[in-house]
Amino acid sequence: GAGGRACRPLIAVEGLSTAFVDPALRYLESRGAEIRYGRRLRALTLGQGRIERLDFTDEPTVVGPDDAVVLALPPWVATDLLPGTPAPQEFRSIVNAHFAVRPPEGAPLILGVVGGLTEWLFAYPDRFSVTISGADHLLDEGREDLARRIWVEIAELNGLARELPSWQIVKEKRATFAATPAEAARRPGVATRYRNLVLAGDWTETGLPSTIEGAIRSGTNAAQALFRTGMCGRAQAQGVA
Ligand SMILES: Cc1cc2nc3c(=O)[nH]c(=O)nc-3n(C[C@H](O)[C@H](O)[C@H](O)COP(=O)(O)OP(=O)(O)OC[C@H]3O[C@@H](n4cnc5c(N)ncnc54)[C@H](O)[C@@H]3O)c2cc1C
Repeated sequence: GAGGRACRPLIAVEGLSTAFVDPALRYLESRGAEIRYGRRLRALTLGQGRIERLDFTDEPTVVGPDDAVVLALPPWVATDLLPGTPAPQEFRSIVNAHFAVRPPEGAPLILGVVGGLTEWLFAYPDRFSVTISGADHLLDEGREDLARRIWVEIAELNGLARELPSWQIVKEKRATFAATPAEAARRPGVATRYRNLVLAGDWTETGLPSTIEGAIRSGTNAAQALFRTGMCGRAQAQGVA
C-alpha cells in the first residue's frame, strides 16, 4: 500500500525448492524432526476436546498427550476432514507457460506486461516463464493455441523469432482462493475447538491474499496458538505441511 518504491520483488531464480523447501528441511532435520512423505491423511479421530488419531493411507498415528497437530491442507481437504470449518469456496486459476529459450543478454528478470495476455514474464537463465493470474477464461483454450499466443508476445517484447520453441503449459484450476470480500469473510483463524489441533494454510485468516508469504504467516500463527495453549511439545512433520 506504500507504493512501488516500498516493494522489493524477490524471485526464486533457481526454483522454490532451493529457495524455501531445502533450507526448511535442513533446519527441521538438524533439530531431529522426522519428515515422512507419500502418506495421504484420510481421516481424523476426534475425542473430547482433542484430536486422538491421524489415519493415513498406510497406518494410523496416535496423537500422544503432549503432541499437537498442525493441519496444513488445502481448504477443500481440511473441510472434508473437519466438517464445519469455515473456508473459502470460490477459487481462481493460474496459467503458467514455459519456453525452452535462453533469454537474450539484458532481458529483465521480471517484466510486467500491460494490455497483453502475458501478465508477468520471467527471464530465467535457461527459459522464459509466464504467469497469468485470474485465468479462468483460459481454461478451455487449447494448450498449443495458448502457447502460440503467449510466445508471439514474448518474441515481440524481446525481438525474437515468432516460431514456437519447445513449450509447456500448466493450468492450475484452484490456484488461489478468490480475493473477494465474501471469501475473506469465510477465512477461519488457526484455532479449532480441539486444543491440540490448529489449522495453517494461506486460506486461513492471515491478512494477506493467497501467497507464499501468507502461508508462512499462517504457520507462525499456528505455532503461536499452540504456545498460547501450552501445546508446544514434540513436533512431528508428517508430510502434510
Ligand atoms: C500456479 C501457481 C502459481 C503461484 N504463484 C505464486 C507466486 O508467484 N507467489 C506467491 O506468493 N504465491 C504463489 N502461488 C500461491 C502459493 O503457491 C500458495 O499461496 C501456497 O503454496 C499456499 O501454501 P499452503 O501451505 O497454504 O498450501 P499448499 O502449498 O497447497 O500445501 C498443501 C499441501 O497439502 C497436501 N495435501 C493435500 N491433501 C492432502 C492429504 N489428504 N494428506 C496429506 N497431504 C495433503 C498437498 O499435496 C500440498 O502439498 C501460486 C500458486 C499456484 C498454484
